[in-house]
Amino acid sequence: MDMDIPAITKDELLIKLYRASICGSDVPIYNWTGGISARVKLPMVFGHELCGEVVEMGLRTHGFSKGDFVSVESHVFCGLCYQCRNDQRHVCGNVRILGIDCPGGFAEYAAIPARCAWKHSDKTLKDLGSILEPFGNAVYSVLVEDVVSKSVLITGCGPQGLFSAGIASACGAKTVIAVEGSSYRKKIALKMGADVVLDPSEPNILGRIRKAAKSPDGVDIVIEMSGNANAIELGFKAIRNGGRFTAFGIPGKKIELDYANDIIFKGIRVYGIVGREIFRSWYKTESLLKSRAVDPRPVITHTFPLKDHKKAFELMSSKEKKCGKIVLVP
Ligand code: ZN
Repeated sequence: MDMDIPAITKDELLIKLYRASICGSDVPIYNWTGGISARVKLPMVFGHELCGEVVEMGLRTHGFSKGDFVSVESHVFCGLCYQCRNDQRHVCGNVRILGIDCPGGFAEYAAIPARCAWKHSDKTLKDLGSILEPFGNAVYSVLVEDVVSKSVLITGCGPQGLFSAGIASACGAKTVIAVEGSSYRKKIALKMGADVVLDPSEPNILGRIRKAAKSPDGVDIVIEMSGNANAIELGFKAIRNGGRFTAFGIPGKKIELDYANDIIFKGIRVYGIVGREIFRSWYKTESLLKSRAVDPRPVITHTFPLKDHKKAFELMSSKEKKCGKIVLVP
């Protein structure tokens, strides 16, 4: 629908959007399922992965000029709660998410809090600007501990799993093993740097993973990106004693865990990953992209004009999953 250009407050920037990409979490919003109606107040501008050019600055903002190229941290942290004041802004107690709790980026213009803007020093990354937010999730997930010389199992190769394969490979992982069912995404996983891509339906997959990791004990690190209960269980079985499990994919309902055998007796470390470390993950992200250590472009499989959003969402919702990250151009 047509809307007015948003009016900015003293603490906001007005952004003219270059790109806005679609997150998996935008699909239930688009289909209005999964209890989203209880949270979102209509009308709302959806979309939380965005980048653009600063066209107006609020009176209390500083450090930004017209023409600056910015990406946007979608988790609007308060800056005042206990977590925010203890360097844990990613788990702010009063967080509002752009495109869910306040207007987002599937639009030509967006008003965003200046504290959530990430100013780029490299304007050649314009085509990638909107994916810094999801790429940052993968950066945080993979690098919450170092990966050098470690075997890394990635369960689920949606865009987050694919980014993770690239990051783990670039940061010195010994072996990157991906588990994914879609043949379309398997090919991208190999392009991104996975050494071995296995199908979850393969018989004796646990044995195949151990063989790929060249260890009868299992893998050093599991990056769980699918939220699928079987994949989560597989990850806990595949991890060696003393390993690291990173949990990012969100299951649709409560799942069962063998808490004693898979966590306690294995002595593993489990990290829950929500969002990005603000702004530690952003510095790492920019460095990985600017240095060309990781090229995320193979993950961006489709670009549509914003007016063709329907096609984009249909492709994202399709069972065949013949897409990676889909980007909209307002
Ligand atoms: Zn806070």
